[in-house]
Amino acid sequence: MRWLNLKDLSPEDQQLLKAACDISATAYPRESDFPVGAALWVKDPGGTGHTVTGNNFETIVYTSLCAEKHALARAYADHSVAEGKGKEVIRPQIEAVAVWGATAEKAALPCGDCRQTLATANPDMRVIAGAGAEAKDDSRVSVSTLRELLPWAFELKSTKVPEPLPLVEPQKLEDHIVHLPYPTPRTPMRDASKRLELLKDIGGMILVGSPGRARAIAEWAEKNRGAQQECYCDLSKPGWDELSREFALYTARVPGQPGIAIASHGIGLSGVEIVLSEVPALLHLASGGKSAPLRGVIRSGTRGTIAPVPLGCVALSTSSLDDHMDRVVPDPGLLEAIRSAARAAKMEQVSEGDIDARDFENKEASTLLIEGPGISTTFFWRGQGRPLWRHPQLPGRRMDPTDAAARYRLLESWREAGVRWIEMEDYTVHRLCAELGYPSASLGAVIASRRRPDGSYQVDYNHASQDLEVSPAQLAFDALMATLKRGG
Ligand SMILES: [Zn+2]
Repeated sequence: MRWLNLKDLSPEDQQLLKAACDISATAYPRESDFPVGAALWVKDPGGTGHTVTGNNFETIVYTSLCAEKHALARAYADHSVAEGKGKEVIRPQIEAVAVWGATAEKAALPCGDCRQTLATANPDMRVIAGAGAEAKDDSRVSVSTLRELLPWAFELKSTKVPEPLPLVEPQKLEDHIVHLPYPTPRTPMRDASKRLELLKDIGGMILVGSPGRARAIAEWAEKNRGAQQECYCDLSKPGWDELSREFALYTARVPGQPGIAIASHGIGLSGVEIVLSEVPALLHLASGGKSAPLRGVIRSGTRGTIAPVPLGCVALSTSSLDDHMDRVVPDPGLLEAIRSAARAAKMEQVSEGDIDARDFENKEASTLLIEGPGISTTFFWRGQGRPLWRHPQLPGRRMDPTDAAARYRLLESWREAGVRWIEMEDYTVHRLCAELGYPSASLGAVIASRRRPDGSYQVDYNHASQDLEVSPAQLAFDALMATLKRGG
């Protein structure tokens, strides 16, 4: 779903939304007092387009007709073609629905019943929704498709269950490993024959950005948790491979327990995708092609914030959005394990609803674990309100003062959607782990704040020490160890 201003819609969609707004004025919401208007864009069987409106209608005995269903019934009654008695009735094509809630605070989306009813007409129709006393240029409106709002709608004909994709044959497993080195006779790496042994019986994985951080966490686990740490490979170090990449894979193993892999993926989400594809393949190779399920994957990194929290606190994501506001949620069991690890570390926990009311002054930031939703965006840098660098002597655009305003508007739209954290990878981690069947969670040290206490936006960066970046990873390590122990 995308959120934009009404004036940024196509002229046709603006018209449709205004029609929905207009018809909401004569709605009859005698019980709910919540007037709704709907307008459909309808192509009749002859190919002519029509706007068909409806509004909600409620009775003293609490029966009701939603605006969308009202409009759909009118469209079918007025724009179907019956070719004679007993012959087939040709229905109009419903291309889009606009819905307007006159007293709603946010765009009024169709209720569940209407989603199903509209999906029966056309599961791929466009859904535009808005709210307010009148439809204005700057009214915030949402644009989505019905399939987005109602995936897996009920259908009378039996839904065909997709065949699962065949698993890769074990002898072809190596084909999955394109970017990360694995020991073959042709890769001249130290202890090649022994290296794969390190990946046997790995039960959990910590994902970090930089190779240095992976190293630091493995060393921390050795020093503080009695783990035996090994380096599977570190492509940021000379001598490991002719390719210099940001990938490092360390293992940390507490005696008698399954090991934990600590992998770095470099900057951004593409690295995450590759690491989450290739590390499981390496684990399978190490276990002789047998299934090697991970019982937890925790991404531990750094992030920016648009919430009034102190720099240096640890932020735990309760959900992660992507640029299109699609939301994924972490595994509740892993979240709980992270909270327990924080309690054991004597950290104070702040829930999402308590952030705004809290006064964090005189609090040691690193002792705070603060929860809330985050956004993972490829517009990480610009999305944090940073300008593109342009040389003043180069031709092309000069710095445009309205550009900053546009970037801050993006931040503001995220804030309105409840976003607290801004980073690049969490969404990809949760989406891929859900596909792979791995429970996942994510947390990170807050090292940048984009919001001043007065509500304006700023660029403020804390060049944090390595220590700051290791502290969330400690929670990740302890949470994974507890999860693995619980599993027996
Ligand atoms: Zn409805």
